[in-house]
Amino acid sequence: MHEKCGVVGISLGDRTAAHPLYYALFALQHRGQESAGIVTHDGFQQHDHVDMGLVGDVFDEDDLESLNGSVGIGHVRYPTAGSVDACCAQPFSVSFKSGSLGLAHNGNLINTESVRDELAALGHAFTSDGDTEVIAHDLARNLLDGGLIQAVRQTMGRIHGSYALTIIHDDTVVGVRDPEGNRPLCLGKVDGGYVLTSESAAIDTLDGELIRDVRPGELIRLDPDGSGYTSYQLTERDNSAHCFFEHVYFARPDSVIDETLVYEVRRELGRQLWEESGVDTDVVMPVPDSGRAFAGGYAEAADGVEFAEGLMKNRYVGRTFIMPTQDARERAVRLKLNPIKSTVEGKTVTLIDDSIVRGTTSTQLVELLRDAGASEVHMRIGAPAIIAPCYMGIDMASREELIAADRSTESIRDAIGADSLAYLSIDAVADALETDRDDLCLGCVTGEYPYDIPGETADRDVSQPVLGDEPVSHAD
Ligand code: AMP
Repeated sequence: MHEKCGVVGISLGDRTAAHPLYYALFALQHRGQESAGIVTHDGFQQHDHVDMGLVGDVFDEDDLESLNGSVGIGHVRYPTAGSVDACCAQPFSVSFKSGSLGLAHNGNLINTESVRDELAALGHAFTSDGDTEVIAHDLARNLLDGGLIQAVRQTMGRIHGSYALTIIHDDTVVGVRDPEGNRPLCLGKVDGGYVLTSESAAIDTLDGELIRDVRPGELIRLDPDGSGYTSYQLTERDNSAHCFFEHVYFARPDSVIDETLVYEVRRELGRQLWEESGVDTDVVMPVPDSGRAFAGGYAEAADGVEFAEGLMKNRYVGRTFIMPTQDARERAVRLKLNPIKSTVEGKTVTLIDDSIVRGTTSTQLVELLRDAGASEVHMRIGAPAIIAPCYMGIDMASREELIAADRSTESIRDAIGADSLAYLSIDAVADALETDRDDLCLGCVTGEYPYDIPGETADRDVSQPVLGDEPVSHAD
């Protein structure tokens, strides 16, 4: 199951947590539109409200009023084809001998089945086939023997894959980032307390200030009275495996992830795209909204080429991706985007998008622009070709569906009908992210993964144990 979601956790001392959590989930809505949920704790008991739908539809004022307490966590879940299923809405909550537990997860485990089988053999009963429930059960079991931090550490030793978690155990909220830092998580200061969340834009929404990213393998525990936080480095790795696709496509442009502003990275990727494969045309045009910052950077570097918003977007059409059939996906592109004829008629156009997955969008748009009178259409993509599936939580497509899985760039150009096509190099992506390529997960563009995935090749030594020495704690 691929889950690409948004998480938040908050501890506010004297203020109630429900409304700030609700606003934070609004800020994270782009990370998941299938379901939304909040779990709070008032010092005596846990409260929750979780349902299918958009944040604005899931909660009304009465729901928020009933979510008592100054600590809580929240979640928005990404829709994946064929899994519109109320069982998987989050946060996942359980009550058990050692108290109450709520869990919000962004990411995807790769050893869900083996951990679930072990727990099932010990008598745990599961209500879903999701990986979040498996983490919750493992944690609940470990909590019978000790405190939350030790329990998370033990669970981290068993689960493999990507996870940014916010967890509430009684009135304590913690945030945990997987050992490779694959999915984002950051820490911020807000009025009356602290917040942990997938993206810093949610901290801005709460009028707060980003403190820093949670480090790979780190757990941050928020004091229940909102007065501070403590960091526990539960495990250390030689290299990280950050997902570059967060910066390329998924995250909001106004978020800072792993110390770089997403918008600036996208502009820089656009500039690099011009440096690597610039082509002289009359106009540079973004595929809205995903290509906009790339096209801005590209046009800036091209110095003097006209930048035109020549494709108008109908903002009421949902993401084309979740359309079940190819025919529906093609229809949706036409519903979603319409050219402004005067910006393209008789002109040579460079069309810029962040990625090509199945090729549906670019094929349709090239045809659309030609129909509108463009004399040439050149396609430039702000990321390398996606040749392999994502196992870490981005709902991409299977290998068979990926247009670049087994084709040359020239054959893709031919398939989408463009006059020319160029992708960005992996080195340009690492440069724009100001990181080493060894600290990125490049599985979808190289076919080699930083994890031990059955049937796939690894790009590093994946045999090192997850847990190192005893955790180091410090208040920073
Ligand atoms: P495709 O039409 O299948 O080639 O998909 C490419 C288009 O989908 C581009 O416009 C991207 O901005 C967008 N896209 C890329 N990855 C995803 C994703 N995981 N979910 C939804 N849309 C995506």
